[in-house]
Amino acid sequence: MTKNVRVRFAPSPTGPLHIGGVRTALFNYLFAKKHNGTFILRIEDTDQNRYVEGAEQYITDALNWCGMPFDEGPGKEGSFGPYRQSERKHLYKKYADELIAKGHAYYAFDTAETLDFHRKDHEKKGKTFIYNWHNRLKLSNSLSLRTEEVQAKLDAAENYVIRFKSPKDEILHLKDIIRGDIKIDTNILDDKVLFKSDGMPTYHLANIVDDHLMEITHVIRGEEWLPSLALHCQLYDAFGWQAPEFAHLPLILKPTGKGKLSKRDGDKLGFPVFPLEWKDPNTKEVSRGYKEDGYFPEAMVNFLSLLGWNPGTEQEIFNLEELINAFELERVNKSGARFDPEKIKWFNHHYMQEQSNDILAKTFKSKRPELSEIDVNYTARIIGLIKERATFVSDFWELSHFFFTAPTEYDEKATKKAFKEDTLELMEKLKSIILHIDDFTVENLQNDIKGWITENNIGFGKVMMPLRIALVGALQGPDVFDIMFIIGKNETVERVQSVIDVL
Ligand code: GLU
Repeated sequence: MTKNVRVRFAPSPTGPLHIGGVRTALFNYLFAKKHNGTFILRIEDTDQNRYVEGAEQYITDALNWCGMPFDEGPGKEGSFGPYRQSERKHLYKKYADELIAKGHAYYAFDTAETLDFHRKDHEKKGKTFIYNWHNRLKLSNSLSLRTEEVQAKLDAAENYVIRFKSPKDEILHLKDIIRGDIKIDTNILDDKVLFKSDGMPTYHLANIVDDHLMEITHVIRGEEWLPSLALHCQLYDAFGWQAPEFAHLPLILKPTGKGKLSKRDGDKLGFPVFPLEWKDPNTKEVSRGYKEDGYFPEAMVNFLSLLGWNPGTEQEIFNLEELINAFELERVNKSGARFDPEKIKWFNHHYMQEQSNDILAKTFKSKRPELSEIDVNYTARIIGLIKERATFVSDFWELSHFFFTAPTEYDEKATKKAFKEDTLELMEKLKSIILHIDDFTVENLQNDIKGWITENNIGFGKVMMPLRIALVGALQGPDVFDIMFIIGKNETVERVQSVIDVL
Protein backbone atom coordinates (compact mmCIF):
# COMPACT_ATOMS: atom_id res chain seq x y z
CA MET A 1 0.00 0.00 0.00
CA THR A 2 1.66 3.17 -1.11
CA LYS A 3 -0.89 5.85 -0.26
CA ASN A 4 -1.57 6.76 3.35
CA VAL A 5 -4.57 4.76 4.41
CA ARG A 6 -7.52 6.99 5.26
CA VAL A 7 -10.85 5.46 6.18
CA ARG A 8 -14.03 7.00 7.44
CA PHE A 9 -16.97 5.98 9.53
CA ALA A 10 -19.87 8.02 8.17
CA PRO A 11 -23.02 7.59 10.26
CA SER A 12 -26.13 9.68 9.95
CA PRO A 13 -27.13 11.12 13.34
CA THR A 14 -30.67 9.78 13.21
CA GLY A 15 -30.63 7.98 16.56
CA PRO A 16 -28.37 5.82 18.69
CA LEU A 17 -25.68 3.84 16.96
CA HIS A 18 -26.84 0.29 16.38
CA ILE A 19 -24.47 -2.54 17.27
CA GLY A 20 -23.94 -3.12 13.51
CA GLY A 21 -22.70 0.46 13.21
CA VAL A 22 -20.24 -0.15 16.02
CA ARG A 23 -18.94 -3.21 14.14
CA THR A 24 -18.50 -1.07 10.98
CA ALA A 25 -16.63 1.54 13.00
CA LEU A 26 -14.47 -1.17 14.57
CA PHE A 27 -13.45 -2.69 11.24
CA ASN A 28 -12.59 0.76 9.94
CA TYR A 29 -10.59 1.47 13.07
CA LEU A 30 -8.72 -1.84 12.93
CA PHE A 31 -7.90 -1.43 9.26
CA ALA A 32 -6.67 2.14 9.79
CA LYS A 33 -4.49 1.24 12.76
CA LYS A 34 -3.09 -1.84 11.08
CA HIS A 35 -1.83 0.31 8.21
CA ASN A 36 -0.77 3.28 10.34
CA GLY A 37 -3.59 5.15 8.72
CA THR A 38 -6.18 7.67 9.79
CA PHE A 39 -9.63 6.88 11.14
CA ILE A 40 -12.09 9.65 10.36
CA LEU A 41 -15.56 10.33 11.71
CA ARG A 42 -17.80 12.12 9.23
CA ILE A 43 -21.31 13.05 10.25
CA GLU A 44 -23.70 12.63 7.33
CA ASP A 45 -26.46 14.98 8.39
CA THR A 46 -27.73 16.33 5.08
CA ASP A 47 -31.21 15.04 5.81
CA GLN A 48 -32.26 17.57 8.43
CA ASN A 49 -35.70 15.96 8.77
CA ARG A 50 -34.16 12.87 10.27
CA TYR A 51 -31.69 14.69 12.53
CA VAL A 52 -31.97 13.63 16.17
CA GLU A 53 -30.67 15.76 19.01
CA GLY A 54 -27.85 14.08 20.93
CA ALA A 55 -27.18 11.38 18.34
CA GLU A 56 -23.79 12.78 17.30
CA GLN A 57 -22.61 12.99 20.90
CA TYR A 58 -23.82 9.43 21.40
CA ILE A 59 -21.72 8.25 18.45
CA THR A 60 -18.58 9.90 19.80
CA ASP A 61 -19.22 8.56 23.30
CA ALA A 62 -19.74 5.05 21.95
CA LEU A 63 -16.49 5.12 19.96
CA ASN A 64 -14.60 6.41 22.97
CA TRP A 65 -16.11 3.83 25.29
CA CYS A 66 -15.00 1.06 22.92
CA GLY A 67 -11.49 2.51 22.98
CA MET A 68 -11.47 3.46 19.33
CA PRO A 69 -11.46 7.25 19.23
CA PHE A 70 -11.39 8.86 15.80
CA ASP A 71 -8.29 10.71 14.62
CA GLU A 72 -10.10 13.35 12.58
CA GLY A 73 -13.69 14.47 12.89
CA PRO A 74 -15.94 17.06 14.54
CA GLY A 75 -13.93 18.75 17.26
CA LYS A 76 -10.67 17.16 16.06
CA GLU A 77 -10.15 19.17 12.92
CA GLY A 78 -7.51 17.81 10.59
CA SER A 79 -6.81 19.44 7.23
CA PHE A 80 -9.94 18.01 5.63
CA GLY A 81 -12.73 19.58 7.69
CA PRO A 82 -15.38 20.46 8.43
CA TYR A 83 -16.51 16.94 9.16
CA ARG A 84 -20.25 17.52 9.38
CA GLN A 85 -21.92 17.55 6.00
CA SER A 86 -24.35 20.24 7.15
CA GLU A 87 -21.29 22.51 7.49
CA ARG A 88 -20.11 21.57 3.99
CA LYS A 89 -23.39 22.47 2.25
CA HIS A 90 -21.78 25.18 0.13
CA LEU A 91 -19.37 22.68 -1.43
CA TYR A 92 -21.67 20.32 -3.27
CA LYS A 93 -23.55 22.43 -5.82
CA LYS A 94 -20.49 23.09 -7.95
CA TYR A 95 -19.92 19.35 -8.32
CA ALA A 96 -23.51 18.79 -9.42
CA ASP A 97 -23.03 21.62 -11.95
CA GLU A 98 -19.81 20.05 -13.15
CA LEU A 99 -21.63 16.81 -13.91
CA ILE A 100 -24.31 18.69 -15.84
CA ALA A 101 -21.65 20.53 -17.83
CA LYS A 102 -19.96 17.23 -18.66
CA GLY A 103 -23.25 15.65 -19.75
CA HIS A 104 -23.37 13.16 -16.88
CA ALA A 105 -26.33 14.73 -15.12
CA TYR A 106 -29.43 16.70 -15.93
CA TYR A 107 -32.17 18.84 -14.39
CA ALA A 108 -35.48 17.11 -13.85
CA PHE A 109 -38.63 19.14 -13.19
CA ASP A 110 -41.19 16.38 -12.74
CA THR A 111 -43.49 17.20 -9.87
CA ALA A 112 -44.02 14.87 -6.95
CA GLU A 113 -47.59 14.30 -8.22
CA THR A 114 -46.41 13.24 -11.68
CA LEU A 115 -43.88 10.79 -10.26
CA ASP A 116 -46.42 9.48 -7.84
CA PHE A 117 -48.87 8.95 -10.66
CA HIS A 118 -46.32 6.93 -12.64
CA ARG A 119 -45.39 4.91 -9.60
CA LYS A 120 -48.97 3.96 -8.84
CA ASP A 121 -49.75 3.32 -12.48
CA HIS A 122 -46.84 0.89 -12.70
CA GLU A 123 -47.81 -0.76 -9.46
CA LYS A 124 -51.28 -1.44 -10.83
CA LYS A 125 -49.68 -3.25 -13.73
CA GLY A 126 -47.39 -5.16 -11.38
CA LYS A 127 -44.30 -3.23 -12.47
CA THR A 128 -41.84 -0.86 -10.81
CA PHE A 129 -41.37 2.64 -12.11
CA ILE A 130 -37.72 3.36 -12.84
CA TYR A 131 -36.62 6.79 -14.04
CA ASN A 132 -33.85 6.12 -16.56
CA TRP A 133 -32.79 5.86 -20.21
CA HIS A 134 -35.95 4.02 -21.25
CA ASN A 135 -38.36 6.80 -20.31
CA ARG A 136 -36.43 9.93 -19.49
CA LEU A 137 -37.13 11.54 -22.86
CA LYS A 138 -40.84 11.27 -22.12
CA LEU A 139 -40.48 13.02 -18.76
CA SER A 140 -39.85 16.66 -17.91
CA ASN A 141 -36.11 17.29 -17.81
CA SER A 142 -33.27 19.07 -19.51
CA LEU A 143 -32.78 16.11 -21.87
CA SER A 144 -36.35 16.14 -23.13
CA LEU A 145 -37.06 19.90 -23.07
CA ARG A 146 -35.60 22.58 -25.30
CA THR A 147 -32.79 24.72 -23.86
CA GLU A 148 -35.02 27.83 -23.65
CA GLU A 149 -37.69 25.88 -21.82
CA VAL A 150 -35.16 24.64 -19.32
CA GLN A 151 -33.76 28.11 -18.79
CA ALA A 152 -37.25 29.52 -18.33
CA LYS A 153 -38.00 26.97 -15.62
CA LEU A 154 -34.74 27.70 -13.86
CA ASP A 155 -35.35 31.45 -14.10
CA ALA A 156 -38.82 30.97 -12.66
CA ALA A 157 -37.21 29.12 -9.75
CA GLU A 158 -39.27 26.01 -10.40
CA ASN A 159 -38.46 23.08 -8.19
CA TYR A 160 -35.97 20.72 -9.74
CA VAL A 161 -33.66 17.90 -8.89
CA ILE A 162 -30.41 17.00 -10.57
CA ARG A 163 -30.30 13.40 -11.70
CA PHE A 164 -27.38 11.26 -12.75
CA LYS A 165 -27.58 10.22 -16.39
CA SER A 166 -26.94 6.51 -16.18
CA PRO A 167 -25.87 5.09 -19.53
CA LYS A 168 -27.70 2.43 -21.52
CA ASP A 169 -26.18 -0.91 -22.57
CA GLU A 170 -23.03 -0.89 -20.51
CA ILE A 171 -21.66 -3.55 -18.23
CA LEU A 172 -19.95 -2.16 -15.15
CA HIS A 173 -17.12 -4.14 -13.62
CA LEU A 174 -17.05 -3.37 -9.93
CA LYS A 175 -14.58 -4.60 -7.34
CA ASP A 176 -15.19 -5.33 -3.70
CA ILE A 177 -12.44 -6.57 -1.42
CA ILE A 178 -14.82 -8.98 0.33
CA ARG A 179 -17.11 -9.93 -2.53
CA GLY A 180 -14.67 -9.97 -5.40
CA ASP A 181 -15.75 -8.90 -8.90
CA ILE A 182 -19.31 -7.78 -9.43
CA LYS A 183 -20.87 -7.18 -12.86
CA ILE A 184 -23.78 -4.79 -13.21
CA ASP A 185 -25.85 -4.12 -16.31
CA THR A 186 -26.50 -0.36 -16.42
CA ASN A 187 -29.87 -0.95 -18.03
CA ILE A 188 -31.35 -1.86 -14.67
CA LEU A 189 -30.06 1.25 -12.88
CA ASP A 190 -32.19 4.31 -12.31
CA ASP A 191 -31.11 7.90 -12.72
CA LYS A 192 -30.57 8.66 -9.05
CA VAL A 193 -31.18 12.11 -7.65
CA LEU A 194 -27.91 13.82 -6.72
CA PHE A 195 -29.08 17.26 -5.73
CA LYS A 196 -32.34 18.93 -4.72
CA SER A 197 -33.52 22.46 -5.35
CA ASP A 198 -33.53 23.14 -1.59
CA GLY A 199 -29.77 23.38 -2.04
CA MET A 200 -29.00 20.05 -0.40
CA PRO A 201 -27.12 17.19 -2.00
CA THR A 202 -28.44 13.67 -1.58
CA TYR A 203 -26.46 11.05 0.28
CA HIS A 204 -24.85 9.78 -2.95
CA LEU A 205 -23.37 13.04 -4.13
CA ALA A 206 -22.26 14.29 -0.72
CA ASN A 207 -20.76 10.91 0.13
CA ILE A 208 -18.69 10.68 -3.05
CA VAL A 209 -17.57 14.30 -3.02
CA ASP A 210 -16.51 14.05 0.60
CA ASP A 211 -14.73 10.74 0.19
CA HIS A 212 -12.83 12.32 -2.68
CA LEU A 213 -12.03 15.60 -0.89
CA MET A 214 -11.08 13.79 2.31
CA GLU A 215 -8.80 11.51 0.31
CA ILE A 216 -10.45 8.36 1.55
CA THR A 217 -8.57 5.31 0.29
CA HIS A 218 -10.91 2.55 1.51
CA VAL A 219 -14.65 2.62 1.99
CA ILE A 220 -15.62 0.00 4.56
CA ARG A 221 -19.35 -0.06 5.21
CA GLY A 222 -22.35 -2.30 5.71
CA GLU A 223 -23.80 -4.54 3.05
CA GLU A 224 -26.92 -2.38 2.85
CA TRP A 225 -24.85 0.07 0.79
CA LEU A 226 -23.85 -2.46 -1.83
CA PRO A 227 -26.71 -1.45 -4.16
CA SER A 228 -25.22 2.08 -4.21
CA LEU A 229 -21.82 0.86 -5.34
CA ALA A 230 -22.62 0.98 -9.06
CA LEU A 231 -23.73 4.59 -8.90
CA HIS A 232 -20.78 5.56 -6.74
CA CYS A 233 -18.30 4.02 -9.14
CA GLN A 234 -20.05 5.72 -12.05
CA LEU A 235 -19.77 9.03 -10.23
CA TYR A 236 -16.03 8.60 -9.71
CA ASP A 237 -15.66 7.90 -13.42
CA ALA A 238 -17.84 10.83 -14.39
CA PHE A 239 -15.72 13.19 -12.30
CA GLY A 240 -12.55 11.60 -13.55
CA TRP A 241 -11.49 10.78 -9.98
CA GLN A 242 -9.78 7.68 -8.76
CA ALA A 243 -12.24 5.64 -6.75
CA PRO A 244 -11.32 4.30 -3.33
CA GLU A 245 -11.35 0.56 -2.73
CA PHE A 246 -14.59 -0.83 -1.37
CA ALA A 247 -15.41 -3.46 1.24
CA HIS A 248 -19.03 -4.21 2.12
CA LEU A 249 -19.38 -5.96 5.46
CA PRO A 250 -21.87 -8.81 5.92
CA LEU A 251 -25.17 -8.29 7.67
CA ILE A 252 -25.57 -9.06 11.35
CA LEU A 253 -28.31 -11.64 11.68
CA LYS A 254 -30.85 -12.41 14.39
CA PRO A 255 -29.87 -15.06 16.98
CA THR A 256 -31.92 -17.55 14.97
CA GLY A 257 -29.74 -16.83 11.95
CA LYS A 258 -32.74 -15.74 9.89
CA GLY A 259 -33.07 -12.10 8.90
CA LYS A 260 -31.34 -8.93 9.95
CA LEU A 261 -30.90 -8.23 13.67
CA SER A 262 -33.30 -5.51 14.81
CA LYS A 263 -33.99 -3.63 18.01
CA ARG A 264 -37.17 -5.67 18.36
CA ASP A 265 -35.14 -8.91 18.55
CA GLY A 266 -33.21 -7.45 21.45
CA ASP A 267 -36.39 -6.32 23.22
CA LYS A 268 -37.99 -9.70 22.68
CA LEU A 269 -35.04 -11.80 23.84
CA GLY A 270 -33.82 -9.39 26.50
CA PHE A 271 -30.49 -8.10 25.21
CA PRO A 272 -29.40 -4.60 24.15
CA VAL A 273 -28.64 -3.77 20.52
CA PHE A 274 -26.94 -0.47 21.40
CA PRO A 275 -23.52 0.07 22.95
CA LEU A 276 -24.72 2.73 25.40
CA GLU A 277 -28.06 3.49 26.94
CA TRP A 278 -30.15 5.86 24.84
CA LYS A 279 -32.94 8.16 25.93
CA ASP A 280 -34.96 9.20 22.93
CA PRO A 281 -35.32 12.99 23.21
CA ASN A 282 -38.78 12.93 21.61
CA THR A 283 -40.51 9.82 22.89
CA LYS A 284 -38.47 9.68 26.13
CA GLU A 285 -38.20 5.94 25.56
CA VAL A 286 -35.06 4.45 27.12
CA SER A 287 -33.15 1.73 25.26
CA ARG A 288 -30.68 -0.42 27.12
CA GLY A 289 -26.96 -0.29 26.41
CA TYR A 290 -24.21 -2.86 26.82
CA LYS A 291 -22.23 -0.50 29.02
CA GLU A 292 -25.06 0.08 31.49
CA ASP A 293 -25.90 -3.62 31.43
CA GLY A 294 -22.46 -4.27 32.87
CA TYR A 295 -20.41 -5.32 29.85
CA PHE A 296 -16.76 -4.39 29.55
CA PRO A 297 -15.80 -2.55 26.37
CA GLU A 298 -13.08 -5.18 25.77
CA ALA A 299 -15.78 -7.87 25.65
CA MET A 300 -17.89 -5.84 23.25
CA VAL A 301 -14.96 -5.19 20.91
CA ASN A 302 -13.73 -8.78 20.97
CA PHE A 303 -17.23 -10.11 20.37
CA LEU A 304 -17.95 -7.71 17.49
CA SER A 305 -14.61 -8.40 15.85
CA LEU A 306 -15.68 -12.00 15.24
CA LEU A 307 -19.01 -11.03 13.70
CA GLY A 308 -18.08 -11.55 10.08
CA TRP A 309 -14.32 -11.74 10.49
CA ASN A 310 -12.17 -14.69 11.54
CA PRO A 311 -8.45 -14.91 12.13
CA GLY A 312 -8.14 -18.23 10.28
CA THR A 313 -7.16 -19.94 13.54
CA GLU A 314 -9.07 -21.20 16.57
CA GLN A 315 -8.10 -18.15 18.61
CA GLU A 316 -11.10 -16.27 20.00
CA ILE A 317 -9.66 -14.02 22.66
CA PHE A 318 -8.16 -10.87 21.18
CA ASN A 319 -7.46 -7.57 22.83
CA LEU A 320 -7.54 -4.46 20.68
CA GLU A 321 -3.81 -4.55 20.04
CA GLU A 322 -3.97 -8.17 18.91
CA LEU A 323 -6.95 -7.42 16.71
CA ILE A 324 -5.08 -4.62 14.99
CA ASN A 325 -2.26 -7.03 14.20
CA ALA A 326 -4.45 -9.88 13.05
CA PHE A 327 -7.17 -8.02 11.16
CA GLU A 328 -7.44 -8.38 7.40
CA LEU A 329 -10.33 -7.32 5.22
CA GLU A 330 -9.63 -10.37 3.05
CA ARG A 331 -10.71 -12.53 5.97
CA VAL A 332 -14.13 -10.93 6.28
CA ASN A 333 -16.93 -13.26 5.14
CA LYS A 334 -19.58 -12.54 2.57
CA SER A 335 -22.34 -14.35 4.40
CA GLY A 336 -24.25 -12.85 7.31
CA ALA A 337 -22.97 -13.20 10.85
CA ARG A 338 -25.31 -14.60 13.48
CA PHE A 339 -25.58 -12.49 16.62
CA ASP A 340 -25.30 -14.67 19.72
CA PRO A 341 -26.11 -12.73 22.90
CA GLU A 342 -24.78 -15.63 25.02
CA LYS A 343 -21.37 -15.39 23.39
CA ILE A 344 -20.81 -11.82 24.49
CA LYS A 345 -21.52 -12.96 28.06
CA TRP A 346 -18.81 -15.54 27.64
CA PHE A 347 -16.40 -12.80 26.59
CA ASN A 348 -17.52 -10.65 29.49
CA HIS A 349 -16.76 -13.45 31.93
CA HIS A 350 -13.32 -13.75 30.38
CA TYR A 351 -12.55 -10.04 30.58
CA MET A 352 -13.91 -9.93 34.14
CA GLN A 353 -11.04 -12.23 35.15
CA GLU A 354 -8.56 -9.78 33.63
CA GLN A 355 -9.90 -6.72 35.42
CA SER A 356 -8.02 -5.55 38.49
CA ASN A 357 -9.80 -6.43 41.74
CA ASP A 358 -9.29 -2.89 43.02
CA ILE A 359 -11.15 -1.35 40.13
CA LEU A 360 -13.89 -3.95 40.35
CA ALA A 361 -14.15 -3.28 44.08
CA LYS A 362 -14.70 0.42 43.46
CA THR A 363 -17.41 -0.31 40.90
CA PHE A 364 -19.03 -2.86 43.20
CA LYS A 365 -19.01 -0.44 46.13
CA SER A 366 -20.54 2.30 44.03
CA LYS A 367 -23.45 0.01 43.19
CA ARG A 368 -24.22 -1.27 46.71
CA PRO A 369 -24.96 1.35 49.36
CA GLU A 370 -24.46 -1.24 52.13
CA LEU A 371 -20.77 -1.38 51.14
CA SER A 372 -20.10 2.34 51.42
CA GLU A 373 -18.32 1.96 54.78
CA ILE A 374 -16.47 -1.22 53.84
CA ASP A 375 -12.75 -1.00 53.13
CA VAL A 376 -11.94 -1.15 49.43
CA ASN A 377 -9.01 -3.53 49.94
CA TYR A 378 -11.19 -5.91 51.92
CA THR A 379 -13.75 -5.80 49.07
CA ALA A 380 -11.03 -6.40 46.49
CA ARG A 381 -9.82 -9.49 48.34
CA ILE A 382 -13.32 -10.92 48.31
CA ILE A 383 -13.72 -10.19 44.62
CA GLY A 384 -10.54 -12.15 44.01
CA LEU A 385 -12.26 -15.16 45.52
CA ILE A 386 -15.59 -14.94 43.74
CA LYS A 387 -15.08 -13.35 40.35
CA GLU A 388 -14.36 -16.65 38.69
CA ARG A 389 -18.06 -17.36 39.04
CA ALA A 390 -19.22 -13.89 37.94
CA THR A 391 -20.10 -12.57 34.50
CA PHE A 392 -21.15 -9.10 35.67
CA VAL A 393 -20.34 -6.90 38.63
CA SER A 394 -24.05 -7.19 39.40
CA ASP A 395 -23.43 -10.89 40.15
CA PHE A 396 -21.03 -10.03 42.97
CA TRP A 397 -23.55 -9.42 45.72
CA GLU A 398 -25.26 -12.77 45.28
CA LEU A 399 -21.84 -14.44 45.37
CA SER A 400 -20.41 -12.52 48.29
CA HIS A 401 -23.04 -10.99 50.60
CA PHE A 402 -22.04 -13.39 53.43
CA PHE A 403 -18.62 -11.74 53.60
CA PHE A 404 -20.32 -8.52 54.56
CA THR A 405 -23.35 -9.59 56.58
CA ALA A 406 -24.09 -12.72 58.61
CA PRO A 407 -26.82 -14.95 57.21
CA THR A 408 -30.25 -14.08 58.57
CA GLU A 409 -31.83 -17.31 57.43
CA TYR A 410 -30.68 -20.76 56.39
CA ASP A 411 -31.63 -22.43 53.15
CA GLU A 412 -34.28 -25.04 53.98
CA LYS A 413 -33.22 -27.73 51.58
CA ALA A 414 -29.60 -27.34 52.57
CA THR A 415 -30.30 -27.58 56.28
CA LYS A 416 -32.37 -30.73 55.76
CA LYS A 417 -29.46 -32.23 53.98
CA ALA A 418 -26.75 -31.08 56.38
CA PHE A 419 -28.25 -31.08 59.84
CA LYS A 420 -28.25 -34.51 61.47
CA GLU A 421 -28.79 -35.67 65.05
CA ASP A 422 -25.16 -35.22 66.04
CA THR A 423 -24.69 -31.85 64.32
CA LEU A 424 -25.28 -29.84 67.49
CA GLU A 425 -22.59 -31.72 69.35
CA LEU A 426 -20.17 -31.45 66.42
CA MET A 427 -20.72 -27.70 66.11
CA GLU A 428 -20.07 -27.18 69.82
CA LYS A 429 -16.80 -29.05 69.48
CA LEU A 430 -15.90 -27.21 66.30
CA LYS A 431 -16.51 -23.89 68.02
CA SER A 432 -14.06 -24.71 70.77
CA ILE A 433 -11.45 -25.82 68.21
CA ILE A 434 -11.84 -22.54 66.36
CA LEU A 435 -11.59 -20.58 69.61
CA HIS A 436 -8.29 -22.25 70.33
CA ILE A 437 -6.66 -21.22 67.06
CA ASP A 438 -4.67 -18.13 67.98
CA ASP A 439 -2.95 -17.51 64.69
CA PHE A 440 -6.04 -17.42 62.52
CA THR A 441 -4.62 -18.36 59.12
CA VAL A 442 -6.09 -20.54 56.37
CA GLU A 443 -3.34 -23.06 56.96
CA ASN A 444 -3.92 -23.34 60.70
CA LEU A 445 -7.65 -23.55 60.20
CA GLN A 446 -7.23 -26.35 57.70
CA ASN A 447 -4.76 -28.27 59.85
CA ASP A 448 -6.74 -28.08 63.04
CA ILE A 449 -10.20 -28.67 61.68
CA LYS A 450 -9.27 -31.33 59.13
CA GLY A 451 -6.98 -32.95 61.69
CA TRP A 452 -9.80 -33.19 64.22
CA ILE A 453 -12.17 -34.66 61.58
CA THR A 454 -9.73 -37.35 60.44
CA GLU A 455 -8.49 -38.27 63.89
CA ASN A 456 -12.02 -38.86 65.06
CA ASN A 457 -13.25 -40.44 61.86
CA ILE A 458 -16.16 -38.04 61.65
CA GLY A 459 -16.59 -37.63 57.92
CA PHE A 460 -15.98 -34.29 56.21
CA GLY A 461 -19.54 -33.66 55.05
CA LYS A 462 -20.87 -33.92 58.57
CA VAL A 463 -18.79 -30.96 59.66
CA MET A 464 -18.15 -28.98 56.53
CA MET A 465 -21.76 -28.80 55.35
CA PRO A 466 -23.24 -27.38 58.59
CA LEU A 467 -20.21 -25.12 58.90
CA ARG A 468 -20.79 -23.77 55.41
CA ILE A 469 -24.46 -23.21 56.22
CA ALA A 470 -23.46 -21.36 59.38
CA LEU A 471 -21.14 -19.07 57.43
CA VAL A 472 -23.07 -18.58 54.19
CA GLY A 473 -26.66 -19.57 54.94
CA ALA A 474 -26.60 -22.04 52.06
CA LEU A 475 -24.43 -24.70 50.48
CA GLN A 476 -22.68 -22.17 48.26
CA GLY A 477 -19.66 -19.93 48.11
CA PRO A 478 -15.90 -20.24 47.87
CA ASP A 479 -13.67 -22.38 50.06
CA VAL A 480 -14.90 -22.51 53.68
CA PHE A 481 -11.42 -21.86 55.10
CA ASP A 482 -11.02 -18.79 52.92
CA ILE A 483 -14.35 -17.49 54.15
CA MET A 484 -13.41 -18.00 57.82
CA PHE A 485 -10.06 -16.37 57.34
CA ILE A 486 -11.56 -13.33 55.65
CA ILE A 487 -14.42 -12.72 58.07
CA GLY A 488 -12.09 -13.40 61.04
CA LYS A 489 -12.27 -15.38 64.23
CA ASN A 490 -14.93 -13.45 66.14
CA GLU A 491 -17.37 -13.40 63.26
CA THR A 492 -16.76 -17.09 62.54
CA VAL A 493 -17.45 -18.06 66.13
CA GLU A 494 -20.57 -15.90 66.24
CA ARG A 495 -21.94 -17.52 63.11
CA VAL A 496 -21.27 -21.02 64.40
CA GLN A 497 -23.00 -20.03 67.63
CA SER A 498 -26.02 -18.76 65.70
CA VAL A 499 -26.38 -22.08 63.94
CA ILE A 500 -26.14 -23.87 67.30
CA ASP A 501 -28.91 -21.64 68.63
CA VAL A 502 -31.14 -22.51 65.74
CA LEU A 503 -30.39 -26.21 66.10
N1 GLU B 1 -24.42 7.85 6.02
C1 GLU B 1 -24.35 6.47 5.63
C2 GLU B 1 -24.80 5.65 6.84
O1 GLU B 1 -25.57 6.15 7.59
C3 GLU B 1 -22.94 6.15 5.21
C4 GLU B 1 -22.81 4.97 4.32
C5 GLU B 1 -21.38 4.91 3.81
O2 GLU B 1 -20.51 4.56 4.61
O3 GLU B 1 -21.16 5.23 2.66
O4 GLU B 1 -24.42 4.54 7.08
